Amino acid sequence: MSVVSHAREAAGQPTPLRHDWSRSEIEALFALPMPELLFRAASVHRQHFDPAEVQVSTLLSVKTGGCPEDCSYCPQAQRYHTGVEATKLMETDAVLEKARQAKAAGATRFCMGAAWRSPKDRDVPKVAAMIREVKALGLETCATLGMLTGDQARALKDAGLDYYNHNLDTDPEFYDSIIQTREIQDRLTTLEHVRDAGLKTCCGGIVGMGETGRQRAGLLRTLANLPSHPDSVPINRLVQVEGTPLHGTEEIDPFDFVRTIAVARILMPRSMVRLSAGRQDMSDELQAMCFLAGANSIFYGEQLLTTGNPDTERDMALFARLGLRPMQVHVDAEHHDHPGTAHVDIIELPQHPRSFAA
Ligand code: SF4
Repeated sequence: MSVVSHAREAAGQPTPLRHDWSRSEIEALFALPMPELLFRAASVHRQHFDPAEVQVSTLLSVKTGGCPEDCSYCPQAQRYHTGVEATKLMETDAVLEKARQAKAAGATRFCMGAAWRSPKDRDVPKVAAMIREVKALGLETCATLGMLTGDQARALKDAGLDYYNHNLDTDPEFYDSIIQTREIQDRLTTLEHVRDAGLKTCCGGIVGMGETGRQRAGLLRTLANLPSHPDSVPINRLVQVEGTPLHGTEEIDPFDFVRTIAVARILMPRSMVRLSAGRQDMSDELQAMCFLAGANSIFYGEQLLTTGNPDTERDMALFARLGLRPMQVHVDAEHHDHPGTAHVDIIELPQHPRSFAA
């Protein structure tokens, strides 16, 4: 980061969005003394958000398990023996019932996740019907369905979809250590289709998969250098599930996780930086550090199929102890997630790292 940029932040002036970060610049941010890094991230956070507000998000799995992909972290891949049973795509009526419950509970956005490599063309009208019906309830809609063609993205947009979640997983240099059934370019191409269709993007990655610091910087670089910053950036900490290849991986140093949050905040100042998978294993103190580092969104709920999530009471107690409050509900489908925009969905089924980008 240049001296000028840093001076602007310190003076409370918004820094221009950048899409030309080099890996070495990002590594230099990671190498800052922790107090300096947190100060810079907190300064950027205040330029765009009320740091006392945290957005809460939940997700409904509309099709669980049985996925043909080989993501080494994922209990929903059919090739790993993790005890996750495959289900069929839910019926629209059942999804609608969940959506009504979500709305009654104050939800403004409803995210639907399916464990697919990509939807088959015959699946798209079914999901489109869900989107139309959920939208008709007055909810914003979000989906995570795997890779999309341009036509599929447009069909979902036409049905009323607002957001699409598609994570980059990890650094391009590390990608084939984690996934062999696709390439990172496949992800980038889907994100292009999603943007071209006029959908908003939710895109982040997973850390703690054995990547190096350089590769962690590479993941954030790829996200920040997308043509537009994702509206939401979920940062997942690997949840090690027995039966997956990454079970037994050395865990990421919690301070390195905080650094990842802080650097994401600096690189993508207007995005919602979301604490996603792995939060249930974090102490209250570690979560507090993440909020200081600029995280302003969490998953909220307790019914994750394979790994759980801190329960509502614990979250509310933590918010109260830290003087935080859920972000105000203000649905504005025409703009990005910004202060005053809430992302309150319903969470129902599995640990799904790709979806936890949602
Ligand atoms: S992360 Fe998604 S694409 Fe990968 S195996 Fe799991 S469900 Fe399939």
